[in-house]
Amino acid sequence: MKLKGTYDLNHYDIKQIKRVRLVRRADGYYAQFAISVDQTFVTQPTGQVIGIDLGLKYFIADNIGNVEPSPQFYRKSEKQLNRANRKKSKKYDLSKNIDKKPQSANYYKARRRYARKHLRVSRQRKEYCIRLAYSVIQSNDLVAYEDLNVKGMVKNRHLAKSISDAGWSTFRQWLEYFGHKYGKVTVAVPPHNTSQNCSNCGQKVKKSLSTRTHVCPHCDFVEDRDVNASINILKLGLTTVGHTGSYAWGDLPSWAVGASLPSYGESGNQESPSL
Ligand SMILES: [Zn+2]
Repeated sequence: MKLKGTYDLNHYDIKQIKRVRLVRRADGYYAQFAISVDQTFVTQPTGQVIGIDLGLKYFIADNIGNVEPSPQFYRKSEKQLNRANRKKSKKYDLSKNIDKKPQSANYYKARRRYARKHLRVSRQRKEYCIRLAYSVIQSNDLVAYEDLNVKGMVKNRHLAKSISDAGWSTFRQWLEYFGHKYGKVTVAVPPHNTSQNCSNCGQKVKKSLSTRTHVCPHCDFVEDRDVNASINILKLGLTTVGHTGSYAWGDLPSWAVGASLPSYGESGNQESPSL
């Protein structure tokens, strides 16, 4: 077989190739090579931490007000997909199915065309998630986000979110993968009340989904709804890392401990070098 693509396999020892997997996709067959490589990336601390909120109208929003709009790949290709699907259906012959005879060659051709269009949309979505996750990891030392897989979390807001964008879980997987690869901290925090609580004074300020601005009657703090939520997520992320010890000390950039978690005494026995 001839090798196509951007990766050169020649400079790997044959022993490093642990597994070869043949995968069938709508546009052909692929060979996946699982190669054992020691990847250690030494990254300089960026001095940045980020809390991200998954949105309904946007893909993610962060604690300083940056918003990444939803790419809506599916919606953009919806017409084409529907057209391809209709063409496929028109060529389907029910009587052949009853007689257990194969469909016409044109039917299978239309079916493959339809499948390829779906494949294209799913690849676009995946590429988008990978690019975004990579850039978030590259520009931050710690990334906090909502753990939307928490059981019993059937609040309207979150349910709507998980339904509205399946891309979120793909994004999260890549975020955690890149975080691991580049030695960054990724923290999933419980999503309770992140949008309700005031990120300035901690008081609960009830608001409906349509309320886009957080206005705190207790401390007069005013902020965009999503930014307020992202700040809460970041704060939760920082306290989680400081408290549970599920991450080794070294995983947390020490400046983050020194700067943001001064009140957590158990971390105080290590020195926090300044940047
Ligand atoms: Zn407040």
